Amino acid sequence: MKHAIGVDIGGGSIRVSLFDETGNELKSNHTKTPEHLNNDSFLKLLVETIRPLKDGSIGIGVGSPGPLNNDTGVMLNSANMVGLSNLPIKSVLEKEFSLPVFYENDANCAALGEAIFGNYKQYESQLILTLGTGIGGGFVKQGQLYTGYLGNGIEIGHTTAVLDGALCGCGVRGCVESYFSTKGFLNRYKEKTNTLLPHAEAFFELVKAGNKDAKNILDFGTKTLAHAVRNAVQLLNPEAVVFVGGITKSYDLFGGPLEKEIRETIFSVLNERLKMGPGGNISGTLGAASLVFVKEKF
Ligand SMILES: [Zn+2]
Repeated sequence: MKHAIGVDIGGGSIRVSLFDETGNELKSNHTKTPEHLNNDSFLKLLVETIRPLKDGSIGIGVGSPGPLNNDTGVMLNSANMVGLSNLPIKSVLEKEFSLPVFYENDANCAALGEAIFGNYKQYESQLILTLGTGIGGGFVKQGQLYTGYLGNGIEIGHTTAVLDGALCGCGVRGCVESYFSTKGFLNRYKEKTNTLLPHAEAFFELVKAGNKDAKNILDFGTKTLAHAVRNAVQLLNPEAVVFVGGITKSYDLFGGPLEKEIRETIFSVLNERLKMGPGGNISGTLGAASLVFVKEKF
C-alpha cells in the first residue's frame, strides 16, 4: 500500500503526518513555530519536522494559508506568519527529500481531503466550505481539485454578501466572511455591544442562552452565507455541498435555516439533486496528503 506525507502549515505550528492510501495515520510529528520568523529559519524547521517521517513515502503534500503560486510552489506571503515572503516550499522540499511535492492553499487541501475521505466521498462533485476564523472554499470534480489559475480560486469567503457592508480583513466591504465566520461574529458583536468575545464558542453560548444580539447576528450571517452558497451552486452545479471547519461544531444552531434558504433560492432542478450537510472531521494533514494520492491517480 502506498504512503504519503501531509504537511499542514498554520499560524503557530507545522503538523506533519504519514498516511496510507485509505487515510490511516501511521506516524505524526509537529513543531511550534516561533513568533519571529524568516524564510531560512522557517524552511529549516519545516525540513526537520518532516524528516523523521520520510521513509516509505511516495510524495509530500503541503497546505498553508495563501496567497500562493501552486505551479512554482511558492508561498507569496502570509497574514499570520509575518516575516515570510516568497517562500520556496516546493523546490526546497524536493531538493531535500528527492520526492514529488504538491502545494495548495489549506482550504483547497481541506476540500480535497473531505472529497476523497469524507462523508460525501461517493458523489461526482463537491463544493466544500471551511467555516472557521474566516471562510475557505474548494471545489472537487471527479476527485480532482479545481484551483483556478495558479491556485487562488474558489475564495467564497471573499465574495460580496452585502453591498457597502462591514469592512473585511481583505480590505473590501461586505464579504460574506465579515458576517459568517469567527472573525465576522466577534466583530459584528463588538460593533453592536462594545464587548469583545474571546472565541466563537463564547458567541454560540450567547446564542444558546437566548441573547438577542448574538441571535440576530447569527441569523443575518446565516442568510449571507446561504446566498454565497446559492451563488456558487448556480455557477458550479456541484452534486454535494459540504460544510467543514470549527464552526460546524455548532451546526445544530444554524444548519437548518442555512440549508432551507439555499434550497429555496436555487433552481428547483438543482435542488432536487443536491446533497448537503456537515462533513467528516478530516485533518489538515490528511487533506494535504490527499494531494499526493490524487496526483498519483491522474
Ligand atoms: Zn474579504
